[in-house]
Amino acid sequence: MGYRLRVQEDVFSHKVDDGERSAWIFTPGCNFDCEFCGHRANPGAKPESSPELSRATIAEEIDRVLRINRSVKINGGETTLDPERLRFLSSTVKERGGEVIVDTNGSMPQNLLPIVRDGLVDQVEVGFKGLTGGEAIRRSRTGDLELAWNRPLALVRAISEERPKVRVLPTFVVTTSNTDDEFRSAFNMFSDLQGEIYIRINNIFDPYPHQDVFDYYYNGMLKTDSSITEMPREVFDIMVRRVLEEKYFKGVNLTPIPEDELEERFRKLVEEMPRWKGRVILVPNVVAKDMPGQLIKL
Ligand code: SF4
Repeated sequence: MGYRLRVQEDVFSHKVDDGERSAWIFTPGCNFDCEFCGHRANPGAKPESSPELSRATIAEEIDRVLRINRSVKINGGETTLDPERLRFLSSTVKERGGEVIVDTNGSMPQNLLPIVRDGLVDQVEVGFKGLTGGEAIRRSRTGDLELAWNRPLALVRAISEERPKVRVLPTFVVTTSNTDDEFRSAFNMFSDLQGEIYIRINNIFDPYPHQDVFDYYYNGMLKTDSSITEMPREVFDIMVRRVLEEKYFKGVNLTPIPEDELEERFRKLVEEMPRWKGRVILVPNVVAKDMPGQLIKL
């Protein structure tokens, strides 16, 4: 018995999350089709191209990564698509004394909450697809307010009320299109909650976070055209990026807010809403999410 996992060079990647090292594992497939999602352009992120690993192999990998990391972050795709897989991963990490971080789009609280209630998760990152319900419906391309907005909100509320010691990070990806009023109303949605709530602002659209996307296209083209090796690899990667942008991200605003403007706008908001002091995490740029000490905590 095993589970499909998205394997890059390794089953786990070692990354930094909120300034701390953690081992990341990826589950393939998603029930959303977000307009900014890099996985759409990544053939390796599809379930059919993900290997099934036995429970024993996964447990061995978890043993290995916990020797150098305190926490394991379970990322998607959408991690809650298969609750049995999620429970296995979480409980295997917890049994070994590690901390569990789960990333989710929040659309299936029924699959996640029982695992949280059983004490198998330490932190849940709920990725909202917009700052308003309308934006979330549009960007998630679900056309469904229940899935893209109501359920993620209900999930944050339920965890905070039922398991107040579990850290919950409602996470928003922002661009130059977003207004301060939208930020304010997003903060207000959680203002009455007493648990360990932190709002994270991702000022990044990083559609191709992994080199494996470029490698996939490079190796594929090599099979039909060996002259591709004459092209410097950086040039090839830029070319592929342009083609993919045209194919997958045409007409989508991918522009992050200038970093100093971002910090100034959110500092003002936190002054105005002191309930959030010490509870806003800004990811100012694409490098910051992978480098210790680069996140801004307000
Ligand atoms: S929920 Fe996440 S993984 Fe799924 S399509 Fe959206 S950005 Fe991609």
